[in-house]
Amino acid sequence: MVSGTVFFQTTYFTDAAYIVAFSLLIYGMGGLTGPRTAVRGNKIAAVGMAIAVAATLLTPGVWHGTSTVILIIVGVVIGTAIGVPAALRVRMTAMPQMVAIFNGVGGGAVALIAWVEFRHHFEPGYFPLRTEIFELFGAIVGSVSFWGSNIAFGKLQEVLPGRPIKLPGSSQTFLNIGLFVVAVVSAVVLCAGVHSQALFILGILVASAALGNMVVLPIGGADMPVVISLLNAFTGLSAAATGVALNNTVMIVAGMIVGASGTILTNLMARAMNRSVPAIVAGGFGGAVAAPAAGGERAGGAVRSTSPADVAIQLAYARQVVIAPGYGMAVAQAQHAVRELERALESRGVVVKYAIHPVAGRMPGHMNVLLAEADVPYDLLREMDDINPEFSRTDVTLVIGANDVTNPAAKNEPGSPIYGMPILEVDKSASVIVLKRSMASGFAGIDNPLFYDPKTAMLFGDAKASVAEITAEVQAL
Ligand code: NDP
Repeated sequence: MVSGTVFFQTTYFTDAAYIVAFSLLIYGMGGLTGPRTAVRGNKIAAVGMAIAVAATLLTPGVWHGTSTVILIIVGVVIGTAIGVPAALRVRMTAMPQMVAIFNGVGGGAVALIAWVEFRHHFEPGYFPLRTEIFELFGAIVGSVSFWGSNIAFGKLQEVLPGRPIKLPGSSQTFLNIGLFVVAVVSAVVLCAGVHSQALFILGILVASAALGNMVVLPIGGADMPVVISLLNAFTGLSAAATGVALNNTVMIVAGMIVGASGTILTNLMARAMNRSVPAIVAGGFGGAVAAPAAGGERAGGAVRSTSPADVAIQLAYARQVVIAPGYGMAVAQAQHAVRELERALESRGVVVKYAIHPVAGRMPGHMNVLLAEADVPYDLLREMDDINPEFSRTDVTLVIGANDVTNPAAKNEPGSPIYGMPILEVDKSASVIVLKRSMASGFAGIDNPLFYDPKTAMLFGDAKASVAEITAEVQAL
């Protein structure tokens, strides 16, 4: 039988703790599949991650020397001091930026681990070839992910211009291929066992850093959430590869979970926008296109604006009202006001349903989370494919801060950048009321013909204030 001390000193303890940790991670992630279980799932996964960190710190040999102890403590303190307030303060609408920056830190950590490992074991042939390949793969992909995520953060935070930034003609593609070749050739030379390793490791890190920047800069802001998910998958893969090199089970399992889920999410988002991942990475989409000012005209019609009192009358005497929320509802934090309006209409016998587009807002499930926060019953929420056939039987559709996901150009204008993207077919309902502040375009930066449709009326203003005014008018009827 293994005694307590021996058990603790050997890797049995670490391995057992890792198994518990990734079991909790996987179980917790299962909870994220539904809004009811998501918070619990998140907490369970966090406990799993805490166990993994504790087990790593308790691994024999980790606490060698005072300087190591100080470094670990300083690292934990800095990480906690930045991570906890950032997570507490972040607005829901800024979540993609936060995911980008945290994901980048993960990729950067993997690249640094690979670098440090190489620097510590400088002689050629110290590592088996298999370990070297995995470690260098981790260094390249982790570095691309770190720098790419920083650019994605900058674009979403509007520190950098959201429009695509590209070199002219095909020079961008040649530059990217050149940087990729430098990184891979440096890795091959290192694996071949050259003596000037530091130079080639630097070559890898600099070329992959430039590649990360150059790949993401040409991608427009509207595609950024998809790119972040893709970079997330890259970070997972790089962590898993480094886990193989370091023989660290929890890094392999956690890295593969992140890699697989990031890949699935990327594909789901791309499919919901009817775009291919290579087309997104090729960039060029999402440039800012000027939209006409409020009250402006477009070929095909003038804009008609309305008042809360008129909207209230239309809604109160409707049989069925569909609410189509979008990013603007999140910005205005109008979900509770919307729930109030729904209740007021239901008390008058109006049937109210919510139309949920899979990429409404800035992250998958964004609308579901907001509406759940406001206690909207799940059975009122309809996914796009279920609600679209219902629009022709709907008296009034209330578009609250949604724009791109309702844009009929996606169906009717083959030249439109969003042509082919599945949309909420709100234009099929008898009348449409759009709540937004101006005629500004949405994330994709393109004009929306829905706003000029003769059966559409615009209610300009902040969505929360507008909804509250409509509710007050409905209640006063
Ligand atoms: P959009 O970005 O198309 O439009 C949001 C609209 O909300 C804007 O036109 C804005 O107009 C309005 N708005 C902003 N603030 C307020 C406010 N306080 N009150 C009222 N209105 C406001 O959002 P959608 O949800 O329609 O579309 C999502 C976009 O994000 C799509 O392009 C999608 O492809 C993209 N995307 C989403 C992903 C996801 O996972 N959800 C992933 C990848 C991309 P105004 O300024 O005039 O008020």
